[in-house]
Formats: sequence, C-alpha cells, structure tokens
Amino acid sequence: MKYNSTRDENVSVTSAEAIVKGLGADGGLFVPDSIPALALSDIAEMVSMSYNERAKRLLGLFLTDFKASEIEDCVNKAYTKAKFETNSIAPVYKLDQSRYILELWHGPTCAFKDIALQILPHLLTTSAKKTGMDKEIVILVATSGDTGKAALEGFRDVEGTKIVVFFPDNGVSSIQRLQMCTQEGDNVFVSAVNGNFDDAQTGVKEIFTDKAYEAELSARGKALSSANSINWGRLVPQIVYYFSAYCDMLKAEEITMGDVVNICVPTGNFGNILAAYFAKMMGLPVGKLICASNANNVLTDFIKTGTYDKNRPFYTTISPSMDILISSNLERLLYLLSGGNTAEIKRCMNELKENGKYAVSPELAALVADNFYAGFADDDKCRETIKKTEAEFGYVIDPHTAVAVSVHERYMEETGDSTKTIIASTASPFKFNCDVLEAILGAEAVEDKDEFELLRLLGERFSLRIPNSLAGLEYKDVRFETVCDKTMMKGVVSEFLS
Ligand SMILES: *Cc1c(COP(=O)(O)O)cnc(C)c1O
Repeated sequence: MKYNSTRDENVSVTSAEAIVKGLGADGGLFVPDSIPALALSDIAEMVSMSYNERAKRLLGLFLTDFKASEIEDCVNKAYTKAKFETNSIAPVYKLDQSRYILELWHGPTCAFKDIALQILPHLLTTSAKKTGMDKEIVILVATSGDTGKAALEGFRDVEGTKIVVFFPDNGVSSIQRLQMCTQEGDNVFVSAVNGNFDDAQTGVKEIFTDKAYEAELSARGKALSSANSINWGRLVPQIVYYFSAYCDMLKAEEITMGDVVNICVPTGNFGNILAAYFAKMMGLPVGKLICASNANNVLTDFIKTGTYDKNRPFYTTISPSMDILISSNLERLLYLLSGGNTAEIKRCMNELKENGKYAVSPELAALVADNFYAGFADDDKCRETIKKTEAEFGYVIDPHTAVAVSVHERYMEETGDSTKTIIASTASPFKFNCDVLEAILGAEAVEDKDEFELLRLLGERFSLRIPNSLAGLEYKDVRFETVCDKTMMKGVVSEFLS
C-alpha cells in the first residue's frame, strides 16, 4: 500500500515515509491509496483477541511496509497494563439498550489522545530506521494543555528521540501545568512561554521554518519533527478501537455479527471521527456517524450545508479540547468522498486560507450529509447532560463526552433511530473535575477547593477510583520552572540539546 497526498496525485510514498514526513511538501495530508476490506468473518476472528492482537492485525493492513515483528514491537510497547491501568485498553461501558460508552481515557494522561500518542513515538522511530533517516528526532510541541502532556508521556525515554514542550504561561489549568512541569524522563524538556497559546504556537512554527537552524541541527545529527494530529501515525491507531468496541459488544452478546451500529464522536480536529469513517469503509457495520461539536459548531454547519466558514466568534468552553475552528483532518474526508479529487481539495483549502471559507460541490455536500449527522451542545446543555447522566445511571462523564451524549440524544429524538450506538468518551471526568462537580453538585460544592480537594471529592462522592497518574501529582517534584519570552524559544531548545 502506498500513500498519496490530498493535494497532489503524483505523490506516492510508503507508510514509513508518510509517518516521518508528517505532512506533504504541498501542504497536503497523506492518505492510503486503497482501503483494506474486512469481511464479517475477519471481524469474527478478532472477537477472541486481546486489544493488542486486534491492533496488530489492523495496523498491519495499513503499514504494509512494516514487518509483523516491527508492528508487534510498537503495539506492545504502547499498550500495557502499567500505562493504561486496564488490560482491555479501551473498554466499553453499557449505559442502556442503545448507548455504549467507549472509554478512551484509561491512558497515562486520562484522555483519548494517549491511544495515538503512546504508539506514535514507536511508529516514528521505526519509520525513521526504515527510511534510512539516522538522526535523533527532536519533537517540538506548542500546547494549550492536553496534547503536550500526552506527547511527553508518549515520547519519554523513547530511544532516538527528545521532546520539548512549550505552553502559554497563563493559558493552561493548574493541573495541566503541574502534569507537565513534573514530567519524568531523561529526554524531555518543558517551558512556559510569556503570552498565550498563539504566541507559543507561532514561536514553534518559526523554529520549524528556520532553514539555517535546520541545517545546524542536521550537522549535529538531529532533525526536528512534530507530533501533530494530522500525522498518519496518529490517525491509524484510532481505527483500532472502533473495531475493538464492536468485537467487545459481540463478545458480550449485546449485538450479533453483522448488526449495524452508529458511532457518535465529540469532535474537534476531526481525527477521531475520521478514524470511525475509515472503520466503516473497511467493512465495520456502521450506520450513521454522528459528529458532535460544542458552541464552536463550524462542523455542524458544514455537514448540514456543505459550506465551511470559520469567520465566526471563537468560544472558550468547558470542553476546551474541542475549541477549534479549523478541523484539519476534514481534508482527508473530502479527498476520500470526492474520489481523490485533488484539484477540488486544493481549491477548497486555498479558499479557506484566503477567505476563511469554502463551499464544496453539491454532490460532495450530499455525500457528506449521507454519511454524517451533525449537532452541537453549548455549555449549559453540556452541564445538564452531565447531571442527568449521573442521576439516571450513576455514571459520571466529562464535558467532552457530555457533548456527544447530548447530541446523540437529540439525534434519537429527531430521527427516531435508536440503533445501538458507540459513543466515544474522550476524557476522564477527573481531568475536568471542577466543571463536572459543578454541573452535578452546584457551584457551592467546588468553591475555594484546590485541584486535589476536587479530585478527592469526585472520587469519594461517586465511589470512583482516582487515576494513579492524577492521584500522585500532588507529591511529585516540579522539574521544570523555566518561563521564557517568545523570542527565546529557539535558545531554550538549543540549550536543552547541547
Ligand atoms: C482532542 C480531543 C477531542 C477532539 O478530537 P479530534 O480528533 O480532534 O476531533 C475531544 N475530546 C478530547 C478530550 C480531546 O482531547
């Protein structure tokens, strides 16, 4: 299998090259040139497998230039009980007859990005070896919170890599700051940047595009890379858990082989739901894909109208990981649905860059609407859903998951379709303990409490076990206290590397 670029039909690279490069030279995203098909009998074979065995089977279909032993090595390093606090890695929790919560947050940072970022470093270092790239890989990340910590955990002590994470000094929660500044590992560095997320992001971009610096690092045997969510190596591991959930539902006799399920995903950059679309294309019996947004509902409008328009107010919500106005991975969907129409994709992406807006052809808009249902939930709706879900089922969900549960409810009301649905749960409620507790118990319950009191309150009140990674945070040593100016970021990187 080879990989093409969404913006240039002449590009054809191996999966290892696609993972090392991350992004095409033309700015396009890498997409497989065919989609492997699984028969129901293939899915049946996976029912008795462990998560890791399912991952090996499915990754092997896409990473055809990898040896089976290489994939096995990557999978087994990424998905361990020690890191995920559960053998099943991504367990399914049955809420009621039609709703199955796919818990994607058992990893070391308590959010779904761990599933991709635990394996990406291994896929990346293996890919580098396979393509003859003999440099040490230096990962640079600008983060508004979650991605930075998940990348740090993924890359920590991975041979042949170093990682530097920058976060805005006044732009992350105190628990996120503590998570990053106490990061362990010999190959990691963390620094706050004076300013907001854009300042940190701009600083990192400047380093990436500095040709002289690239040459200087290259001479010292180092190459910069990113752990960006558009890297194919982050997308492909996400396909696995949709198959895994279906297999687990079969195993628990909640469905029988071939039954169609819907999938509902709280969406930001469109990576997670795109993985579900891939699963469907591969033969997983999936009906509707339900795209759930928060108040930043640019995708809701796009799926309903075929016009993507980011010229709108940006809202800061209680589901911050979905506060996004440019959903980069949507480009891959448009490429696939348009039958690989690179000219059309290029036109849309140029218009997006120039006017912040594009409209796809009516035919393409119809295909999008055919596959996807879209809706959004604002913060009030989200809080209401957290409260209601706890009251009805004694099950506590985080704000991102609540957006999905709310939109799915609306979908059922609107369409009368009560098909069993896999709802992706993307963060542990502990990670957003303040908003979760406030939604259920009211504002007084959280007043004057610090993060650790809130963790204990959530745990005790609802008989939940505090994840080890958060419980231990209070007693960890702070290793990183650097705060730098935007103009000093390159210096921070250089000093760490010397
Ligand atoms: C990143 C993230 C999302 C959005 O996922 P996309 O793949 O960007 O659509 C949703 N919830 C949480 C908790 C996240 O961290």
